[in-house]
Amino acid sequence: MVDFTLTDEQKDLRELAHSFAEKEMRRVAWEYDKDGTWPQDIIDMAWEVGLMNTHIPEAYGGPGLDYLSGCLIEEEMGWGCSGIGTTLMANGLASAPITLGGSEETKKKYLGMLTEDKKLASFCLTEPDAGSDVSGMKTKAVKKGDKYVISGSKCFITNGTYADYFTVYAKTDPEAGHRGISAFVVDADLPGVSVDKKEDKMGQRASNTATISFDEVEIPAENLIGEENKGFKLAMMTLDRTRPGVSAMAVGIGRAALEYATEYSKERVQFGVPIAMHQAIQFMIADMATKVEAGRLLVWNSAVMLDQGVRNSKVSSMAKRFAADSAMEIAVDAVQVYGGYGFIKEYPVEKLMRDAKIMQLYEGTSQIQRLVIAKEVLLPRAVGEPTPEAEANAAKAAEDAVLALVGLGYGQPQAAAAVARISAQLGPATETAALIRAGLKELAR
Ligand SMILES: Cc1cc2nc3c(=O)[nH]c(=O)nc-3n(C[C@H](O)[C@H](O)[C@H](O)COP(=O)(O)OP(=O)(O)OC[C@H]3O[C@@H](n4cnc5c(N)ncnc54)[C@H](O)[C@@H]3O)c2cc1C
Repeated sequence: MVDFTLTDEQKDLRELAHSFAEKEMRRVAWEYDKDGTWPQDIIDMAWEVGLMNTHIPEAYGGPGLDYLSGCLIEEEMGWGCSGIGTTLMANGLASAPITLGGSEETKKKYLGMLTEDKKLASFCLTEPDAGSDVSGMKTKAVKKGDKYVISGSKCFITNGTYADYFTVYAKTDPEAGHRGISAFVVDADLPGVSVDKKEDKMGQRASNTATISFDEVEIPAENLIGEENKGFKLAMMTLDRTRPGVSAMAVGIGRAALEYATEYSKERVQFGVPIAMHQAIQFMIADMATKVEAGRLLVWNSAVMLDQGVRNSKVSSMAKRFAADSAMEIAVDAVQVYGGYGFIKEYPVEKLMRDAKIMQLYEGTSQIQRLVIAKEVLLPRAVGEPTPEAEANAAKAAEDAVLALVGLGYGQPQAAAAVARISAQLGPATETAALIRAGLKELAR
């Protein structure tokens, strides 16, 4: 049965995030937006209360939260101030490739760095000539003995000025298009790393966006994340995992705009009645509310699929496309509900309209999301195809279950056959204990 009830822990987390967004973020959001103030004080507080690095596994000092819980937090951050929210959440984007593909040593060092102290990391994929089409990137990594030497420039990097390390994508086989890209961890204090430019942006002005250059930067060969030339896959897997959260932030912006517009429509009197009494306004509010609700459902679905170990590329792109476009539409409508006052900086909704625009651009534009969705619809993969991690976990669980059954005195071939049959029926999310229980039942028959 489909059940949208949150656990008590999820409700508490949402409450914590909401209270933080209301008391700490909104307090400074409009002021920090004005001058593009770096929100270090809010970062410090968010780190202290545990609202950052929420996906880092417990083994590396994080809380290892599920994806749905992460989305509950990100919606509140978007509601509070998506500029500050983007700053707080960027570690998640930068650290995801390490969690997915890093060696044990790399995970310990670089995931641990974020959980032990108030450090920041940035994700460096985009280049001046390679945005939507990352295969055109020019940054190169050349292997020299036990080092790689990285040269190139990355633009629009969130938190770039303040990051302690970068996850950098570079060509290791320049002739091979997206099949020649590899991912690396690069410490920000290495010789040759420089921050070239801080962008002056339309919206999300409290977030930092910078150009980072790498001039013959030498890094140890073990800072390669995963395998050489598999960086593109790692980047796509990363985005499948971060898009639910970004989409949740877009839902938060839409929800904030809806709430402001609703309140204003009850107060503003024209033609002798509050404007909320005019059906044209009511219909706008109804559409805004519907988009918030529908966006949230797509977000939750895309997150729950990940939590169940099922590949979510299509649904996470649907969530991002719909929630981002909806946030923009809702914010524009909120300005309309406010009339001329909506255009004035003294009122809250013009900031939301500027902030919402970036949701249709970063982490894949709305056009690129449509390309992903269209590909998945026109060339569908098997329904419920597992994620690579789920496949690896399932293989390990099956192996452990067979060993446990053999330990209980069953023959290896019978135990292996029983576990193989059961894993095929039960799917990739099945844990070792469940496999052993089902295997015992089958063998006892
Ligand atoms: C504030 C901000 C923060 C960012 N943070 C990061 C970050 O932390 N790390 C990082 O690596 N990047 C980051 N980015 C980069 C962002 O992801 C890119 O801007 C985005 O992917 C689009 O690339 P582009 O700007 O080069 O646009 P382009 O790729 O040049 O696209 C221009 C237009 O053409 C459309 N288009 C392109 N190709 C197609 C196609 N095949 N079919 C249809 N339409 C198409 C696009 O949708 C868009 O409308 C950030 C950007 C901004 C503005």
